[in-house]
Amino acid sequence: MNRFGIKRQSRILIVDDDPGTIRVLAEILKDLGKIHFTTKGSEAMDMALSISPDFIILDVEMPDMNGIDICDLIKSNPAFKDVPVLFVTGHNDIDLETRALTAGAIDFIQKPPHANVVEQRVKNYLALKLRTDHLQKLAQAVEQSSDSMVITDIDANIEYVNSTFSRNTGYSREEVIGKNPRILSSGKTSLETYRSMWANLAMGQEWRGELINRRKDGSEYIESAVISPIRQEDGRITHYLAVKSDITDQKFAQGEIQRLGYFDSLTQLPNRRQFQDRIGQTLASIQRSKLHSAVLVADLDAFKVINDTLGHSVGDRLLLEISTRLRQNCLRAHDLLARLGGDEFAILMDDLDDDYAEAAGQAKSLAAKVLKAIEQTITLDGVVHQATASIGIYLLSGNPEETIDDAMKRAEVAMYRAKAAGRNCLSFFDPKIQVELERQASLELDLRNALGNQQLQLAFQPQFDTSKKLTGAEVLMRWVHPQRGMVSPAEFIPIAEACGAIVPMGQWILGAACDQLNKWNARQGWEKFRLSVNVSPRQLREADFVPNVIATVASSGIAPENLMLEITESGVLEDIEGSIAKMNQLKKVGITFSMDDFGTGNSSLSNLKRLPLTELKIDQSFVRDIGIDPNDEIIVKTIIAMGQSLGMHVIAEGVETTVQEEMLRKHGCTNFQGYLFGRPMPSGEFDVAFAL
Ligand code: C2E
Ligand code: CA
Ligand code: CA
Repeated sequence: MNRFGIKRQSRILIVDDDPGTIRVLAEILKDLGKIHFTTKGSEAMDMALSISPDFIILDVEMPDMNGIDICDLIKSNPAFKDVPVLFVTGHNDIDLETRALTAGAIDFIQKPPHANVVEQRVKNYLALKLRTDHLQKLAQAVEQSSDSMVITDIDANIEYVNSTFSRNTGYSREEVIGKNPRILSSGKTSLETYRSMWANLAMGQEWRGELINRRKDGSEYIESAVISPIRQEDGRITHYLAVKSDITDQKFAQGEIQRLGYFDSLTQLPNRRQFQDRIGQTLASIQRSKLHSAVLVADLDAFKVINDTLGHSVGDRLLLEISTRLRQNCLRAHDLLARLGGDEFAILMDDLDDDYAEAAGQAKSLAAKVLKAIEQTITLDGVVHQATASIGIYLLSGNPEETIDDAMKRAEVAMYRAKAAGRNCLSFFDPKIQVELERQASLELDLRNALGNQQLQLAFQPQFDTSKKLTGAEVLMRWVHPQRGMVSPAEFIPIAEACGAIVPMGQWILGAACDQLNKWNARQGWEKFRLSVNVSPRQLREADFVPNVIATVASSGIAPENLMLEITESGVLEDIEGSIAKMNQLKKVGITFSMDDFGTGNSSLSNLKRLPLTELKIDQSFVRDIGIDPNDEIIVKTIIAMGQSLGMHVIAEGVETTVQEEMLRKHGCTNFQGYLFGRPMPSGEFDVAFAL
């Protein structure tokens, strides 16, 4: 049958110089196939080539060419080497028969041909030919398959391998025939895999799986295998067939996919996601083991400077070099090193001692190694670099409620503390700090509602000139917390800055201050009374800061000259040009500015000259140490002289003693604020003290 399901008619070629014999043979064989014939031996080869016969019948003795020579000729063509040739002979000549068989004939028939014998014989040979054709095709398919194929006997001795097998493994057919396939074993396939394989095969079932094998040259590869038992017709299993394909590349590609989601692409280290997953596993396992584990976060110091000045490719190479060093020099066998992103690396250390202090010691010594590895100089393009890092360490608590997030955050808090402590050092997470952080977090939550819940109030601290005449007051914010009572601005202002709540709070206090100023300016003799309102850097940065202030001032109806805004050096320096522009716009409508906490920042004299300032406010830290630290007196003197030369008046804050006051006066300070003159107080109290 061909692939269309039609049995192809066999082609039979008869070569005989006697037309009578041809006629008889054609009659006998007509049902077995299509008959082609010739009476000339010399035409036999051409006919064979043109019809491609499945069977050839040759007369031994012909006048032009004898049958044995014809057989030789035809058989020398590979296309016909498997085509059965049957001789027809009139003699019983052993010698002739031997020659014919040597030339490739399969059998003889006698003249005159006996119908039944001839028919049966040709039929058998044709059937045999069909089977050989079939088998050959099968063999070719097996041989040329891109899969590796191995046939073993029931005892797993190799009987056959195809050429793909030899190509893939490097073993020739001769080297493996009779051997057990375990010669390929790398020792890395799990026992479980082999167990399931033999269990399946023993039950006569096919097995599919993956094997990690080793080639003749020692290299390893992964193959996907299908092993099936080969059954005989009676059901007996006599052989096994393994069809295997090399999936090493595919595995690698899948690995790449995993790597993309789970690994950092620059350093190939596990990324933050994988690191956090591992912390999750660790948190679960320490419940049982009671051993300690530590999370170590290392952040390079000043890496941004390298990136910005030398370019990202130098930065990348530095990170790569550091990751290699950490991997090679710092890790114990099962420590996990990861790159969390940017210049932040992390190590998860499992199986530390069950004693907390011991475990902390182990973590500390690893951290010290990390610091040292990073500290070693790195030469890139002939330039020597030296990096340092700040390391935070957190020992997982074993508390079942602890989350991955907690662990990461705590290690990071410790790292920031190391940075604050001066870099190139390590710091452990301290539970006391945690309490403080939690307090800040809850304050932040309350602070967001403080304004809406009307918990904010204003305090006014009086300011005086040299003749002790009241000139104005600084407005200071107060927060009356329902549970905590009065919370100091020193505590809540930084939180409000960090979370942004300072912006609406500052806007509100400006409005409330203007309303109060309006009332006081309406009093006789108080027309020039001034209020100073603190402006946070965050407020100054807001795009609509200028229009907001102008609108507030306008709607309150105050004289803008009586409003002074206190800004800080750091706030201005964040964006010096933008700040100057904004200040000038406000100065145009009459609002004045004071430079708060002066002396603590590092603004240059040239910057100071460009700012439209009316007042310099000497920071209270210098005032406090007057008479104690001689340097402070020099600083105070310098500030006052500087202010005078720039045409500003100078106010000292935090004046608590007459000694301080005297010294300030001596150097030419014109304005004063401090507990010596008056504490910050609510407006009602202020009225009682000064206005009434
Ligand atoms: P600041 O602007 O430097 O305010 C001066 C601080 O010194 C005030 O603290 C004041 O009460 C305190 N003080 C005044 N005289 C003396 C003295 O003789 N001795 C001592 N030891 N301290 C004195 P306060 O009210 O706790 O405010 C702290 C800081 O909070 C302020 O420092 C300011 O930076 C910020 N702040 C307060 N109110 C506001 C506000 O409405 N907006 C903004 N943005 N910040 C504010
Ligand atoms: Ca101030
Ligand atoms: Ca101040």
